Amino acid sequence: MLKVTCLGATQTVTGSNFLLRTDSGKKYLVDCGLFQGPKKIERRNWSDWDFDPAGIDALLLTHAHIDHSGRIPKLVKDGFRGRILTTHPTAELCRIMLLDSAHIQEMQAEWESKKRKRQGLAPVDPLYTQEDAEKVMEYIHPVQRDEMIELEPDLQVRFRNAGHILGSSIVELWTRDQDEEMKVIFSGDLGQEDQLIVQDPHQILNADHLFVESTYGDRNHRSFDQSKEELLQAIMYSARAGEKVLIPAFAVERTQEILYILGEFHRQGRLPDIPVFLDSPLAIKATEIFRQNPRDYDQDARALVSRGVDPFDLPDLTFTSSTQESMDLNARQGPAIIIAGNGMCTAGRIVHHLKHNLWRQGCSVVIVGFQVAGSTGRMLVDGAKKVKVLGENISVRAKVFTIGGFSAHADQSGLLTWIGHFRNHPKVYLVHGEERASTALAQAIRSRIGFEVHIPQWKESLLLKPRQEVEEVFAKETGEADFAAATYNSVIDVERLIKELKKKIQDPEWAKNLDEEDLDRLQSWYQDLQTMLGEKDA
Ligand SMILES: [Zn+2]
Ligand SMILES: [Zn+2]
Repeated sequence: MLKVTCLGATQTVTGSNFLLRTDSGKKYLVDCGLFQGPKKIERRNWSDWDFDPAGIDALLLTHAHIDHSGRIPKLVKDGFRGRILTTHPTAELCRIMLLDSAHIQEMQAEWESKKRKRQGLAPVDPLYTQEDAEKVMEYIHPVQRDEMIELEPDLQVRFRNAGHILGSSIVELWTRDQDEEMKVIFSGDLGQEDQLIVQDPHQILNADHLFVESTYGDRNHRSFDQSKEELLQAIMYSARAGEKVLIPAFAVERTQEILYILGEFHRQGRLPDIPVFLDSPLAIKATEIFRQNPRDYDQDARALVSRGVDPFDLPDLTFTSSTQESMDLNARQGPAIIIAGNGMCTAGRIVHHLKHNLWRQGCSVVIVGFQVAGSTGRMLVDGAKKVKVLGENISVRAKVFTIGGFSAHADQSGLLTWIGHFRNHPKVYLVHGEERASTALAQAIRSRIGFEVHIPQWKESLLLKPRQEVEEVFAKETGEADFAAATYNSVIDVERLIKELKKKIQDPEWAKNLDEEDLDRLQSWYQDLQTMLGEKDA
């Protein structure tokens, strides 16, 4: 038996944190992220742990994003002495991200203390300091992807590629209940198929219990190619107007994807001749880590590297690390592309660029990532005419481009495809999603795949048992859903095979071996299918 308590990322996208208790009495955590967004949610970062940090044996970290890792310094400060298991790239990214997060915590506490002092109140301490963040590194034990690790005799774990950001993982866990084996999976954040730089999410076929993210459970992204064109349109719009293009971007993955795409535009001769600034010390450091980990790239990115192309470089690209260099950008006239953090426009250098440019006609703000409810970024997406930036009301005359296709998260159809690969009816728990998104995905899973779904509440505990018996009953009771599941699985199997075939045909080396007979067979299959589907319609 395994007891799982959901202590974060329930009916919200942030604060990922799951407490696992095994029969042996040992305790583990999956992720330990910061709650972000509305004050009501962020306050949870300050509340006491629902467990004793000193009693945790190991922390399994899916990836470096702060909503999955951002409370680890507090955990260590409060007594955690176990091992933190995660992949090498995640370990490297974590270091810079936690230090950055600690810096933000320190600044916020300082600002708050000044304000309180004026009111005659005592100062406040930060959630954690840079020193606390530095200490986390002592506990990190990087592991190889796809390697079986024994946590205790009846508990094994394996990190699989999640295709979300560099180093990101799905956590597979095997445990025993008496004599029966049970497999539990935590998806972490799942990437999109064919996402830039990283490899596609690993397809897993079996599980008893499946914790899956649902950030975009209620919608599908616009096409990636279309999104790239929209980015180019935004750049052209401001380049013509002689104004700036502001791209608020998460420092890890999104920033490198944008650089990658700009590089592509440049190689195609489509990028106008304007300077590009990466105005984020964190993103600059992250880009370095990306450059040092080509082993984690997908085929296309590797191909560039083998041709001697740096996927993250441009002829007119400047890294502005210092505050002075960043401030100089405010005074700079003429068009430019500025990529800066944070991704939701709630803090960081982007806020200063917004203050200086949002009111200017011809400027463009390109939103390329998820915007949590209540953030400045979300207000811009929702068409606010005025937003409060650094205490000032700024009117929005810039053109806001919301580009949905660059997401590092699978969309509804991506999630359904990934979940649909499971053969043995796992029970699905939807986490990492706002209520609306999780509910919509739950309905889609029930009706299209036929799996049982539950959306856990905050602090809800679940007793997980092997599903073999449950599965049989389930199949009997809901024969209809089971048939729908089989149909759905067949369709996605065919879809996957066709995709593979398409890739092969596009490869000239492979295609030159296609002879007439092969083509004839493909043709006749295609016609057969068309006829059958036509008859079904009629
Ligand atoms: Zn993430
Ligand atoms: Zn996340």
